[in-house]
Formats: sequence, C-alpha cells, structure tokens
Amino acid sequence: MVSPAIAAEYLESVDPATGEVIARFASTPVAKIPECVERAQQAQSEWRRLLPAQRAQFIGRLRDVLFHRRAEVAEVITREVGKPRVEAIFSDVTVALDTAHYYSNPLRVARWLRPERVPHHNLAVKSKRGEMHFEPYGVIAIISPWNYPLAVPMGQILPALLAGNAVLLKPSEFTPWCGALIGELCDGAGLPEGLVQVVQGGGEVGAALVQTEGVAKVLFTGSVATGRKVAESCARRLVPSVLELGGKDAMLVLSDAEVEVASSAAVWGGFTNCGQACLSVERLYVERSVAERFTELVVAKTGRLRVGPGSEADSDVGPMIRPQQVERVERQLRDAVARGARILAGGKRAARGGNFFEPTVVTDVNHTMELMREETFGPVLAICPVANAEEAVRLANDSVFGLGASVWTRDAKRGREMALQLNAGAVMVNDVISAFGICEAPHGGRGASGWGRTHSRLGLQEMLQVKYVDVDGLARVRKPWWFGYSAELAVAADRFLEFLYAPDWRRRVRQARGALGTLFRKNRI
Ligand code: NAD
Repeated sequence: MVSPAIAAEYLESVDPATGEVIARFASTPVAKIPECVERAQQAQSEWRRLLPAQRAQFIGRLRDVLFHRRAEVAEVITREVGKPRVEAIFSDVTVALDTAHYYSNPLRVARWLRPERVPHHNLAVKSKRGEMHFEPYGVIAIISPWNYPLAVPMGQILPALLAGNAVLLKPSEFTPWCGALIGELCDGAGLPEGLVQVVQGGGEVGAALVQTEGVAKVLFTGSVATGRKVAESCARRLVPSVLELGGKDAMLVLSDAEVEVASSAAVWGGFTNCGQACLSVERLYVERSVAERFTELVVAKTGRLRVGPGSEADSDVGPMIRPQQVERVERQLRDAVARGARILAGGKRAARGGNFFEPTVVTDVNHTMELMREETFGPVLAICPVANAEEAVRLANDSVFGLGASVWTRDAKRGREMALQLNAGAVMVNDVISAFGICEAPHGGRGASGWGRTHSRLGLQEMLQVKYVDVDGLARVRKPWWFGYSAELAVAADRFLEFLYAPDWRRRVRQARGALGTLFRKNRI
C-alpha cells in the first residue's frame, strides 16, 4: 500500500528532454515519517509470520502486475529519466521482472531461508546441536537514485519483502512518478496495508528517514557524497547499512581482443543511459598494438549515434537528467583539455540544446585529470593506450572506486586471470554492465563504491539477521569452565588442551585420563 502522503509541498516530475513539468506528486512531510515507520512495523509483525513460500507467492503476484503494466511503466521511465524506450524496457523493466521471477521461486526461497545446521568440531561442545536461523530486521529504508528508477529499488525491495521485512522506499526527487508507480504495483499485488510505503521527497526526507527510530537497516544507492552522510547517520544510530555508490569502471582491451565487438561494447557501455549508469564504462585502457584501430572504430561508431528524446523510437542517446549534470561533464572536459587531453568526438552540448550532450570520445588522458579520477556520470569515453596488460591492470586499479570492470580478450583463461587482479566488485570478460542484470550475480562495490551486496543470494542475506541457537543434550551436567576454580582445575584445563592439540596422540590420551575426573568433579559451583 502506498502511503497517502499528506502533502505540504509538491515534487515536480520534469521531462529532461524538454524541461517541462509532466506531473506533480505530494511530498511526504518529515513530521509524518515516524507514523509511516509505525504502520510499517505493524504490517511487518504479521508479514514475518508467513511461510517463506507464501511471501514468495506475493512476489510472484508483483511480477505479474508489473508484466501487465510493463508498457505504461516503460513509458513513464522514458518520460521521467529521458532514456530511450528500448533501454527502459531492457534495463529497467526486464531487470525488475526477472528479479521478481527469481525471488518468487518457492523451492529456492525455502532452501535459502530454512535454518542451517551448525556442526561443532570441538569435543567440548559436541553435546550441543547448533543452528543458524535467519530473521528479518523489521523495517528497512531503501533510498534510491533516479538513473534506474525501477530496476534499482525493485532489486532491493523484493528480497527485503521475501526476508519478512517491511519497506519504506524513498525514490529520487527526480523520479517521483516512477516511485509512485512502484507503490501502485505493490498495491496491485495485494501486499498488506503499510508493508511497502513510498515516502516522497528530496534529501531532507531521505535524511529524516535514516534518522527515524524504528528503521532497522538502510539500503542506500546514490552518490559518494550522500552515501557518506547516510553512513555517518547510520553509525550514530548504530544501524547497519548497504551502500551502493558511484563507479569509474575500467575496460581493458588486450591485443588479442575482438576489436570490432569490443569497440561496440565500449560505445554502448559508455553511452547507454547517456553515460549515467553506475557501471558505465568511463576509462578505457587499450594495448598499444590495437589502440589505433580500436579508437578509430569507437570514434566512427560514436558518430553514428542518434541523439534525441527517448520518446523518439530511433534515438540512441537521450538527454542528461538535469543541467547541473551537464555542467559537471563540461567542467571535467575543460580540466582534461587544459591538461593535454584531445577530444576526438563530441565534447559539447548537442545542437538541440537543453540537457542534450554529444557522446564524447577523449584521448591523451592521464590520472592527474579529474576526468580519470572522479565519476563523470555522463556520455564521455576516455581512451588511454597502454604498453601491456600489466600496465592496464595497474592503471585500472589506480582509483578509489571499485565497482565494475571488464577485460576483452579471446583467451578466456587469461581474461579470468586478469579479472582476479582487478580491484572491483564484478568483472566481466567480454561484456560490459550485464552483471547488474543477472539475478544470481551479487552486485556491489569496494572502496568508495560502497559496501554490502544487493541481488543474488547475498542480496537476500543482507535483509536477514542471523541468530545462532544451540540446544545442549547434556542438560544435567555442569560445565567444566564454570565456577569452583582451583589450582587443580587449572592443571586439568591445561591437560585438556594437551588432549585436544598436542602433536603426539599417546600424550593426548594420557593427559585426557588425568584431566576428566577433575573437570567433571561434582563439588563445583
Ligand atoms: P544522490 O546521492 O544525489 O541521491 C540519491 C538518493 O539519496 C536520492 O533519493 C536523494 O534524494 C537521497 N538523498 C539526498 N541527500 C540525502 C541525505 N542527506 N540523506 C539520505 N538521503 C539523501 O544520487 P543520484 O544523483 O540520485 O544518483 C547518482 C549516483 O548514484 C551516481 O553516483 C551513481 O553511480 C550512483 N548509483 C550507484 C548504483 C550502484 O548500484 N552502485 C546504482 C545506481 C546509481
């Protein structure tokens, strides 16, 4: 059920292609957030009692509702984010649908959520039967960005629900319509009242949500700067967080790569969603023997891209989301050119004006440039020829970010070996970005790219807290380490260690005989 946000103010949904206001949504007053949390807690107390397979059934219904409304959802994504229709379908709707499909499988879910036996190796605790139980946190806050306004939040809401939690979703203030639609989809699936509530608003609403008593965990996806604030806030309240932050993904093209295919991958990886993807290819390290041909192909293919509104069927690259993002790209390019970079394609605002920016290819770059150090989050590919694979790895790892990377080679073994040397949460050999769309693949970063994982079995685990339970079969026996200490007990304790760990087995048996009587003597407290 969507919260009936009692509005003091409105959020404007703006079409980034035209700057027009296309819808208005009531923002949730900060003062109302504690009430939302309370309602979520009430709903969760029932929801957690359902069997995992029953919760999975709701996820299946959510998938069906999304499937039926997919055209409308894709249309709203295109209008609100500006991305081409094909991308709204492939990157948002398909990923969300497949995630729902994945988490709705009752057998898989039952296997993941059932308690796990914990066999004990130590003789001292052999009488205990140990188990790990997986329990929901309660109310989870999910704070989302605008760039994949369906795929990102759904990839987190679904496992949160499956684990038995309630969710308060705060979509980006740039995509309130997509956020509202997610609420409607949950309604349509018949989820209990209050279980999923959409809290609309900007940063102040996100900040208030993180600070509200009763929010037991925070999943934040967004920029490094905001992620840092969220982490600080969570630390103050001692609640755990998952941070999915920015990236500066490198693509390593080796001399034996399929250059024709790799160049298409670079162009798509750099310019899909107008370069506004956390896993966008931003840095290209290309072995010198193929660098010239690769660069020529990238420049030629970039020149063939059609820049236009996402609503026009043949647009390849839509607008950027807001003027400030365009300005950041311009600033990085200015700095790079001042330090010796050469622009081979694009490099300026597109003739149609507004937030449209020409897909840009740059070379003669180095790591003193902001363009190579900071996330660009715009349509810019920076190509850096390198002497060999070792140099490519060294430069790729010379970054505070560690989200994704790719290696291009016809030699699968070498590709895998290089993948293991890269400092990233995911490395694709001969593909870019696709790991985000694979339900079984854990998604998340290292370093400034954040911590924790979403998607996959690990993404579900993030939504669960572990409880260890053991039951001692020797209920009538006092433990040897309890009170009633004496010099004799210290000797016996040491003999017990000899029994467990002495290298010579004869000595171990001898010591055991001497120790057991003292350890289990009846006159203990
Ligand atoms: P952002 O940090 O500006 O905003 C993200 C969300 O945080 C929004 O909902 C915003 O309203 C909210 N927010 C703002 N201030 C807040 C505060 N003080 N406390 C709590 N919430 C607050 O990011 P953005 O511009 O929406 O998204 C772009 C960034 O997201 C890029 O850096 C991109 O790489 C990253 N991103 C990462 C992933 C990933 O999976 N790693 C996926 C998508 C986007």
